[in-house]
Amino acid sequence: MRVLPSQVDAIVIGAGLAGLAAARQISSHGLSVIVLEAQDGVGGRVRTDEVDGFLLDRGFQVLLTAYPELKTQVNMAALDLKMFSSGALVMRNGRASVVTDPFREPRRAVATVFAPIGSLTDKMRIAALRWRVMHSDEAKILSKQDISTVVALRAFGFSSKIIDRFFRSLFGGIQLDPDLRTSRRMFEIIFKYLSEGQSALPTNGMRALPEQMAKHLGLENIYLNTRVTGVAPGVVSTADSQIKARAIVVATDQPASCELLKTGEIASRVAGCVYFAADSPPTHEKFVVLDGTGKGPVLNAAVLSNIAPSYAPPGQHLIVAALPGIIDGDLEAMSRDQLRTWWGPQVDAWRHLKTYRITHAGPEQLPPFDPEQQVALGDGLFVCGDHRDTGSIQGALYSGRRCGDAVVASLA
Ligand SMILES: Cc1cc2nc3c(=O)[nH]c(=O)nc-3n(C[C@H](O)[C@H](O)[C@H](O)COP(=O)(O)OP(=O)(O)OC[C@H]3O[C@@H](n4cnc5c(N)ncnc54)[C@H](O)[C@@H]3O)c2cc1C
Repeated sequence: MRVLPSQVDAIVIGAGLAGLAAARQISSHGLSVIVLEAQDGVGGRVRTDEVDGFLLDRGFQVLLTAYPELKTQVNMAALDLKMFSSGALVMRNGRASVVTDPFREPRRAVATVFAPIGSLTDKMRIAALRWRVMHSDEAKILSKQDISTVVALRAFGFSSKIIDRFFRSLFGGIQLDPDLRTSRRMFEIIFKYLSEGQSALPTNGMRALPEQMAKHLGLENIYLNTRVTGVAPGVVSTADSQIKARAIVVATDQPASCELLKTGEIASRVAGCVYFAADSPPTHEKFVVLDGTGKGPVLNAAVLSNIAPSYAPPGQHLIVAALPGIIDGDLEAMSRDQLRTWWGPQVDAWRHLKTYRITHAGPEQLPPFDPEQQVALGDGLFVCGDHRDTGSIQGALYSGRRCGDAVVASLA
């Protein structure tokens, strides 16, 4: 273990995306900053394991290229992004239907019109909603009256059919909320980013994002396997040392933040995720695959090696099954049972690689949902993380950057 310094300008607790963004912002103003991280690697919820030559992200995640913070904080070219096809493959009664964005995939527009996920009116409403969110900025979306996603979808006039066969599996999957209770503001912001950009995977796994940020900060400034046990104005405690700092940033996940700062907790969203290896892919498509019943437990899946071949060794294929809201029980068996109804008995020949049960995948974002929560707590204490903004990569990066700015302003 490296010896910790006894005094610095700023200490950031947590090397997730928010902590790394905050530390970089502070360091770019010439201030001394260290990051203390409890785990053995950077990234927090955005990490990737290597198992038998497969790249397994800790929970099925994608990078939305339209996230505004990526443009300023990340060297996107270095991530060597591999893109999903825009749209989705919806599985229902053993049949696959392609649903695409007709503006981006006009070739498949006719298939979309006939996909049995809802009426033509429903599909025209999707186009109208898409136009509206693309022509609204975040501030406008956030200023609207807030209600749950499912109530908002009904108010837009969508039928129960399209809510269950499309929105529940797509947005319930993205927001880790099968009941669609999440804020309509959050739903519209995600819909906007989905419409404006693409969904992507870095060639080297989702870990490439925090690892790039950590390198830019300087690995010598990051102390791994260093759990913070206490925070007080001007001093941070670990199991065996105390460090003084003019500013302290708590950039942990929300439950840990509440413990360190003794603040009230918001409920967590949980998520299960199962990875399988196959000799041949069940589809050659690069779409995310949706459960067209909306009942789950697998709400979405993907053949990740179709999108990013580097996720599997040559000649093999990687399939991910995402079970938002579920962490208990035999997730492997549940996934096989459901995917067999999509792709038949080949599913039984797949090799199980790993199951993840994530107890804090994200904070609940129920209406009324107000991101841009205060980051400066007074007495040199600051807080950031996806729970202070939106529960997403964008939210974590934005929160970290604005918290870093607040630290710099306080130390000037
Ligand atoms: C399954 C899943 C799917 C997701 N899908 C997407 C997606 O597709 N797109 C998207 O944009 N977002 C997605 N997200 C959300 C996104 O990953 C998070 O919002 C974001 O990574 C949160 O970053 P953070 O820095 O706020 O927190 P974290 O990543 O949780 O980082 C906090 C860090 O603090 C450390 N820490 C905690 N306690 C201490 C302590 N006492 N001392 C020192 N260190 C401590 C932790 O170890 C961790 O490294 C998904 C998340 C999950 C789990």
